[in-house]
Amino acid sequence: MQILKNHNLKPYTSFGVNAYAAQFVTVTTLTQLKLALAIPTPQRVILGGGSNLLFCADFAGLVIRICLTGISVNESADDTVSLHVAAGENWHEFVQWTLAQGYDGLENLALIPGVIGAAPVQNIGAYGVELKDFCDYVDVLDSETLTVRRYTPEECQFGYRDSIFKHELKDSAVITAVGIKLAKAWVAKINYGPLANLGKNPSALTIFKQVCLTRQQKLPDPNKLGNAGSFFKNPIINKARFNAIVAKHPSMPHYPAGENIKLAAGWLIDQCELKGYQLGGAQVHTEQALVIVNTGLATAADIVALAKHIQTTVQTRFGVELHHEVRFMGQHGETSLAEVCRG
Ligand SMILES: Cc1cc2nc3c(=O)[nH]c(=O)nc-3n(C[C@H](O)[C@H](O)[C@H](O)COP(=O)(O)OP(=O)(O)OC[C@H]3O[C@@H](n4cnc5c(N)ncnc54)[C@H](O)[C@@H]3O)c2cc1C
Repeated sequence: MQILKNHNLKPYTSFGVNAYAAQFVTVTTLTQLKLALAIPTPQRVILGGGSNLLFCADFAGLVIRICLTGISVNESADDTVSLHVAAGENWHEFVQWTLAQGYDGLENLALIPGVIGAAPVQNIGAYGVELKDFCDYVDVLDSETLTVRRYTPEECQFGYRDSIFKHELKDSAVITAVGIKLAKAWVAKINYGPLANLGKNPSALTIFKQVCLTRQQKLPDPNKLGNAGSFFKNPIINKARFNAIVAKHPSMPHYPAGENIKLAAGWLIDQCELKGYQLGGAQVHTEQALVIVNTGLATAADIVALAKHIQTTVQTRFGVELHHEVRFMGQHGETSLAEVCRG
């Protein structure tokens, strides 16, 4: 295991902006991970595929890139298949692999970038399903005690793009593996968007292909145009607030969210006519308003300035505050758009 000093993170993050880490290691085994956690450092960040991260400044600590691999299968239960998947396995390749084995269920979550260890952190979701629908457990290495503990889905406190790993366990937990449980009696989930047009009994593979096609048409490929997917979360507001806004904007898309209402952040941004809006090298994607892209030479400061502009414009027009889904990393660890803008 080599400790790299003053290492550029650009190739490891899908935004593709320059930012240097004081120390950087890649770990491929649990033993290496424990050794990495013993390296003296003022702070550390765990890195998966880097598709949900913006390094806003050079990072003064240690970045640990998780490349643990391996999948094991337990088919002994009558009704489910249980998969134990190491944290560094690529998420999309894992979804493809499950379908090739005849284990259906994850098809709606195809083509989400990143690795499986990051999937529980924001409870990844797409096309009407979320990781929590299939999560059996999450194995977590405590960075202080160096012991692995298994968390049940309830203990993970999964919510909309949220989990305990963004809160209480933010700085102490390293996810080493995820348990996935797939029902042998598969049921297609096709009520969402373009999947509703697939007819009565589409196979899991048909759904997978449709999800891939739609995503390829809708979202910029980070390998060609740097981005981190949806930059902002869909805002959830109370009914009174919703009634006031919808009275002025009757065509506004909205979805039930328990007692509250979820709005489409992309629609709000689009209504502010921000598609294509550019600040420095950062641009609101011309086709998908929820995505900020690096047109080539964007700096993190360009992306931050554009995100702030979007947030302020939507707040002024609709009175709705957008919260970023992308995790912001500052010089000394996780930060936020508000903190970065305060300077
Ligand atoms: C084009 C595009 C489309 C996207 N579409 C979707 C989508 O449809 N739905 C969705 O939910 N997301 C989507 N995303 C966001 C992103 O793919 C997911 O959040 C993904 O899970 C991030 O994985 P990663 O390995 O890249 O994580 P990273 O960006 O490396 O890390 C994300 C966070 O997780 C932490 N982390 C990573 N690994 C571990 C670990 N082993 N232990 C503890 N903490 C860890 C990091 O410290 C960081 O805080 C999209 C992104 C892009 C670029």
